[in-house]
Amino acid sequence: MAIAQRYGEGQRILITGGAGFVPSHLVDALVGRGAHVVAVDNFVTGTESNLAHLADNPLFTFVKADVSDGLPHDPALAGRFDAIMHFASPASPTDFEQLPIEILRVGSVATLHLLERALQDGARFIMASTSEAYGDPLVHPQPESYWGNVNPNGVRSVYDEAKRFSEAATMAYHRSRGLDVGIVRIFNTYGPRMRPDDGRAIPTFIAQALRGEPITVHGTGEQTRSICYVDDLVRGILLLLDSTQTGPINCGTEHEMSMRQLAETIAVLAGSSSPVTYVPRAVDDPEKRRPDLTLARTLLGYEPQVGPEDGLRRTIRYFAERVQN
Ligand code: NAD
Ligand code: UDP
Repeated sequence: MAIAQRYGEGQRILITGGAGFVPSHLVDALVGRGAHVVAVDNFVTGTESNLAHLADNPLFTFVKADVSDGLPHDPALAGRFDAIMHFASPASPTDFEQLPIEILRVGSVATLHLLERALQDGARFIMASTSEAYGDPLVHPQPESYWGNVNPNGVRSVYDEAKRFSEAATMAYHRSRGLDVGIVRIFNTYGPRMRPDDGRAIPTFIAQALRGEPITVHGTGEQTRSICYVDDLVRGILLLLDSTQTGPINCGTEHEMSMRQLAETIAVLAGSSSPVTYVPRAVDDPEKRRPDLTLARTLLGYEPQVGPEDGLRRTIRYFAERVQN
């Protein structure tokens, strides 16, 4: 099974949230293919430095805007897009408490604006969904056919339900208007360009290990996640973009580990003597998470390639140049 490249040279692609961690790597990959990429971001959790290397690249244009207000009048946004990739959204559980309304708006109002634009342009619409759509799953590993176990009004609901709304809206435009869409459910992804203070486990543990501070594991640390290096995720997203699949399709890896194991591994790989300390666990924190990758494998020919040690080493190297002791 090999998906032929459909999006690249000569095409215009809009990526919302382009200054963020995952989307900035997508921007690089598509510019690398020769596509003209327009990134829109309001820097709520992203940074200009993630795109600084593209400042003089004629294939790249940046527009600063909040996509929840609709796309602004800007010459870069005037022409037709061949694909629209909606990746804007704060994504760290610490953001769920600090930016609840912003998260709800970018998952709902912004999604509707961008779906309308995709319809107008005849563009393929790719929506960044999440393993959080499964909530605290009662089925393990999680296949796309599982409907999930989500608290509809808890602290995580602003993110989980916004993404579930985005999925519903995307499918409604597909079913009722014939829009060409693809939904990817992204599982815990990490790598260079995450912020050390982003609050998620991997950047937090790496920054703590490099500073020689205690590594703060929540609860007993027996809860699990399956971690995916960003290059593997980007490969999966591009396969979905090039395919004609609608999804939702899980993307990630089966490298499942407990948070205690993750903390200990990071300490060793960083050559750190930081002790692990146990602090209270967040409300509604999912107990375990691992994608069933059958659909990604059979429909997209996706196979993750970067093992956790290799990916963590690369990420630690990136952080080591930025984190102050
Ligand atoms: P990130 O915070 O680094 O990137 C999100 C970007 O969106 C940031 O640059 C932010 O400034 C921008 N943004 C947010 N709201 C905006 C708005 N209203 N207007 C314009 N820009 C806005 O996070 P990330 O981890 O790179 O996540 C990117 C996408 O992938 C998100 O949609 C997230 O939900 C999804 N996702 C990521 C993971 C993961 O493990 N990294 C897992 C599941 C889903
Ligand atoms: N976690 C932790 N210490 C931290 C940050 C997170 O033990 O400093 C735990 C968190 O409680 C969760 C897991 O690590 O069980 C993954 O959290 P993360 O925020 O990375 O992503 P999530 O999968 O919850 O969206």
